[in-house]
Amino acid sequence: MGISRVAVLGAGLSGLMLTWKLQEAGIETIVLEAQSEVGGVGKTMVWNGFRLEAGPHHFHTREQPLAQELKQLMGGESLIQTRQNRIWFQNRWIAYPLSTRSLLEIPPTTLIQAVGELALLWSQHRLGFNLPTPPTQPGLLPKYGKVLDQLLMNEYRQKIQQVPASSLRPTWYTSISPASSPLQAAQQLLQGLFRPPKARTLTFHDPSQGFGSIAKKLEQRILAAGGQIQTNIQLRKIHAPDDEIQAIEYHYDNQEHWLPIDYLFSTIPLTTLFFRWNPIPPHSLLEHSYRLRHCSLVYLNILLPQATETDNMWWGYFPETHYSFYRASPAQLHSPSHSLPQQQSCLTVEWMLPTDHPLHDASAQQLLEEALPGLEEAKLLRKEDVKDLWVHKESRALPLEHPTQQSQLREISSYLTKIRRFRAVGQQGKFHLSPLAENLRNSLQAARSIIKESN
Ligand SMILES: Cc1cc2nc3c(=O)[nH]c(=O)nc-3n(C[C@H](O)[C@H](O)[C@H](O)COP(=O)(O)OP(=O)(O)OC[C@H]3O[C@@H](n4cnc5c(N)ncnc54)[C@H](O)[C@@H]3O)c2cc1C
Repeated sequence: MGISRVAVLGAGLSGLMLTWKLQEAGIETIVLEAQSEVGGVGKTMVWNGFRLEAGPHHFHTREQPLAQELKQLMGGESLIQTRQNRIWFQNRWIAYPLSTRSLLEIPPTTLIQAVGELALLWSQHRLGFNLPTPPTQPGLLPKYGKVLDQLLMNEYRQKIQQVPASSLRPTWYTSISPASSPLQAAQQLLQGLFRPPKARTLTFHDPSQGFGSIAKKLEQRILAAGGQIQTNIQLRKIHAPDDEIQAIEYHYDNQEHWLPIDYLFSTIPLTTLFFRWNPIPPHSLLEHSYRLRHCSLVYLNILLPQATETDNMWWGYFPETHYSFYRASPAQLHSPSHSLPQQQSCLTVEWMLPTDHPLHDASAQQLLEEALPGLEEAKLLRKEDVKDLWVHKESRALPLEHPTQQSQLREISSYLTKIRRFRAVGQQGKFHLSPLAENLRNSLQAARSIIKESN
């Protein structure tokens, strides 16, 4: 197949990685980005001398080739570090992800409830009658029950904390793979109890200058290889007559542009893409797409005096709150190489909320009032210590995955997979909340397969 020009929609980390690899292989590639800067949610900001991330905070992969790829890209600016994890659950800190031993730290009544829920769900499943999933209960809940769902929810909810070693009791890390039967569960439990303890740490390959620097490096590489990055564009139409990609129409610099292309990759939200599609997709699919929902993120950054207990430098998670997702973490640990301002620390509180949630319009002070009870209870701060506040928001940053929309998503994606010379990648392109490692791996694979096809 002759491929001489590829377009990539979206200059987030997925789109940039893909573009770099294609351009490096000699395939002329242009990235079209709606914002004025590259990086998407991979953006790093500075406030009061602290580096704050808009999206990814930690990069973790067990795949050596991927880690190597990133290390090469970042040169001396990648930092390998180990971190330890804890979460605040029912008035105490417990090790996370759970190990068999850390299950013993869960209050006995909660543990009994969790085991009961698991047994019930397992027997329902084995006996062949599945209860319908209530529409308000996403995540692992239908499979594992409420208590374990709160503790084991997907990797995005994993709380990655760096904790002063002195403040930790010895704990052990085991990744949880759910048992398929009570017998297997019992075996796992026994193995866990008798297995020699491993250090409870994960290894991260985080850029020392923040995640925004990955985008900057990719941008440099793309431009050096002769690729094009067009920012501030307005996407008008994607022309795919007879189920084959033909051209993109967009507005840029007060002019309309028509760009004939041989292949299109999209990393932009599926919802946006579908509404620009020409010919217009079937009405039912447009409706499905219209109903797909996004979450936005609200961050409250709190400046505190250094005097705040260092023991309290946790990544915290407060599952008893009514928010779908809520966590607090020390900002300085996002960028450990950064020299910290004296006598200060910064705690970031983060809410992930449906886009129409009223908390989006709250002031910094209102957000602080909202967060205070949880933060004080976990002894993360005292109100009188707060020196300054700053709010930043990332609107529609995340796909809100929900069991009720899985079938609609499948229909949309089966329509799109029919389109020749088109592929959706990235978190928004797939409408699937996924860690950076997964997105970068997919971009690398996509690039490899197109390079192979074009040869
Ligand atoms: C709050 C948050 C925390 C995270 N934490 C972690 C973490 O700790 N570790 C980890 O591994 N992963 C984490 N992730 C996931 C990680 O950020 C993503 O995997 C990755 O950044 C997604 O990159 P992307 O390029 O696919 O998407 P995005 O960064 O969303 O890029 C999409 C791009 O498309 C552009 N765009 C949108 N509409 C249009 C249009 N109409 N025309 C042109 N361009 C358009 C956008 O402006 C954007 O630049 C986190 C994500 C978020 C949001």
